[in-house]
Amino acid sequence: MKKTSTPVVPSRETPGSEPLLVVDDLHVEFVTRQGLVKAVNGVSYSLNAGETLAVLGESGSGKSVTAQAIMGILDSPPARIPKGEIRFRGTNLLDLSEEARTQVRGRRIAMIFQDALSALNPVFTVGAQIGEMFRVHRGASKRDAQKKAIELMDRVRIPAAKQRVHDYPHQFSGGMRQRIMIAMSIALDPEVLIADEPTTALDVTVQAQIMELLGELRRESNMGLILITHDLGVVADVADKIAVMYGGRIVENALVHDIYRRPAHPYAKGLLDSIPRVDQKGQELYAIKGMPPNLLDMPTGCAFHPRCPYRQDNCVVDAPPLYEIGPTRGSACHYWREVLDGSHG
Ligand code: SF4
Repeated sequence: MKKTSTPVVPSRETPGSEPLLVVDDLHVEFVTRQGLVKAVNGVSYSLNAGETLAVLGESGSGKSVTAQAIMGILDSPPARIPKGEIRFRGTNLLDLSEEARTQVRGRRIAMIFQDALSALNPVFTVGAQIGEMFRVHRGASKRDAQKKAIELMDRVRIPAAKQRVHDYPHQFSGGMRQRIMIAMSIALDPEVLIADEPTTALDVTVQAQIMELLGELRRESNMGLILITHDLGVVADVADKIAVMYGGRIVENALVHDIYRRPAHPYAKGLLDSIPRVDQKGQELYAIKGMPPNLLDMPTGCAFHPRCPYRQDNCVVDAPPLYEIGPTRGSACHYWREVLDGSHG
């Protein structure tokens, strides 16, 4: 990808009606010994300030690779981006010099990873680790950095922050460690926060608390939030819209209440049907049959066809485009009408 020779940091204003962040026809591939892995194949989505987008899919669907491309943390080689744009406030991040990219990464677009224990350094207190953000990026003194760390720990609702700022990561529960990671990620007031499976390692009650916290922080600071998850159940109350990914593509995008009410892609429907429900106690839980596709040997036609209860003969040869089925909605299924109607499958 061609880079400009001088740093051009995106402005703080978004030009015209352009959303805060736009991923436009992004392709990411990996050159491996086994062959070319096309991990992301023409993904497009957008995010406005104050909005939450949930990106949903199984492992290997391309959701995390897309996020890593936004952050600019893909190792190249083996990764390469042959096509597409990632526009942040109207500037294509893929055109930036590495120096300009560094100005954006962590400061204006930040990311939370799923494994808080391995992301935190066990030999430093959490206060030192949070405060480090202010010392390195803002030149704060040790005392000021600690004050800021306490403020942030308060903001992410860690009880007794003043005392606990001197504790080490192992002295916190999994949920509290994730709060510390969130504190570090919002330290520099990012405009976009990407949370990659932020609740996977946590129990259900703590998951809900972390989701609630992310929603509150997003509202308080009007940042755009991208929630990456494999679990439709955890995003229902926080997301505004959803992009469902399968085999490196978006197979359905919709406003959150539309997809929950009536999904328009068999894969999205399968994910919804697999959420445990209190009114179906004792019944066997639905599971989507089969395995995610092998990215080195993708199925012909529609990538979901080997697992799809709605499959017709043409699905094996004709890859569906992302049909526009409404002003805020798309489905990559030839038979989206039947899925919406729930007429078979
Ligand atoms: Fe299923 Fe065919 Fe739709 Fe693919 S295009 S999801 S195989 S019905």
